[in-house]
Amino acid sequence: MNQTASRSDTSVTWSWRVGQLAGIDVYVHATFLLLLAWLGLVYGQKGGLPAALHGIFFILLLFGCVVLHELGHALTARRFGIRTRNIVLLPIGGVASLERMPDDPKQEILVALAGPAVNIAIAALLWVFLSVQPVVRLSDAGIPVEGGILQNLLVLNLFLALFNLLPAFPMDGGRVLRALLALRMDRVRATRTAALVGQMAALWFGFMGLFHNPILLFIALFVWIGAVAEAGSEEIRSLLHGSTLRTAVITHFETLAPNDPLERAVELTLESTQKDFPVLEAGEVVGVLTQEDLLRGLKEEGPRAPVGSYMQREVQRADIDEPLDQVLERLQHCGCRLLVVTEAGRMAGIVNLDNLMELIRIEAALKQRAA
Ligand SMILES: [Zn+2]
Repeated sequence: MNQTASRSDTSVTWSWRVGQLAGIDVYVHATFLLLLAWLGLVYGQKGGLPAALHGIFFILLLFGCVVLHELGHALTARRFGIRTRNIVLLPIGGVASLERMPDDPKQEILVALAGPAVNIAIAALLWVFLSVQPVVRLSDAGIPVEGGILQNLLVLNLFLALFNLLPAFPMDGGRVLRALLALRMDRVRATRTAALVGQMAALWFGFMGLFHNPILLFIALFVWIGAVAEAGSEEIRSLLHGSTLRTAVITHFETLAPNDPLERAVELTLESTQKDFPVLEAGEVVGVLTQEDLLRGLKEEGPRAPVGSYMQREVQRADIDEPLDQVLERLQHCGCRLLVVTEAGRMAGIVNLDNLMELIRIEAALKQRAA
């Protein structure tokens, strides 16, 4: 799988960095260790310690193949000038967080296909190796492994390739399908159609899961959520595409001064809908007081404490001509409550996430009326 790095910071929490490949950090998620422990236990109950080690060793080999799969996406994306923030290993597979997806559908197809292609290449190499030397005894080298492990690895690599080629988000096949459709229609319709196919696939998985294998139910849920999320984020992207911050900037807002007491912020909060305030000194923005800062100050020092002691001094700025989709992404990632909007270097207003979401809802309603 691969994804654009939305909130890449959250995907790395609960994960340990295990190394670096081609300059990309590789992380293992905590739940992956749970999977190893569980497998060790299941195999161990069957055949003691040797079986447990065998099971864990096999899974590690398999996940080595998953890392190579993700590296396939990452290195192909790099050829098109797109960087990869990290690769995270989860129990359900790996995720390469690309900074963005290529806009050119042909490039997107190549990036998406590169992962499964790696698994097919591994399977082919194993097949050649096994046909030359059919019996491999890793146990002779001191590794407690029964024969047949490479055969299993071959089969599972083929399975990985096929599974990822299913034409459903968030699988690679879903991206290929979307890109193929995008060659003929606009990107939003292509995404919507691909998401619909993904949801139908999810329903089918769920149905099969009820009667055959419960794991399929889990996959069905995973595919359904992936399809809905992809369609939603593409829709928002297209609504904002072509607009600049100028259409969303808030020009009527309250400000504070560093010497104002916190009770002034309380007054302003209660008499307006504003929750976060830019702090100005001699016409210059010197900080931002968010609602959390205000509450913290009230708890620690009370209403007489100066705004300057509790405001955040690091101020994020955005130019009024910045594309709106880019502004949305920044607001989702910065961990800040508002951006100070500047025009020709001077403060022109503020923008926050609530305000942008309101604009998106309005744009969506207008578009539905036009359709
Ligand atoms: Zn993939």
